[in-house]
Amino acid sequence: MNGVREVHCPTCRQLTVYAADNPWRPFCSARCRGMDLGAWASEDYRVATTPPADADPDAPRSPIDREGDRDR
Ligand SMILES: [Zn+2]
Repeated sequence: MNGVREVHCPTCRQLTVYAADNPWRPFCSARCRGMDLGAWASEDYRVATTPPADADPDAPRSPIDREGDRDR
């Protein structure tokens, strides 16, 4: 063993070296790392801005909202 450890990139599943000289570890590249962070960011954004519709069943819904739902 020479201490080199290889892991699968979480984004593209490519085998990549997990070591101090790989700044993108555990990802294989800046692109894969950016894609993963982007997914996290968009997930946070969605959760923060859109409350679940059925979280509060007693909350009154405006007629305008219902009209919009019927259109879809
Ligand atoms: Zn990758």
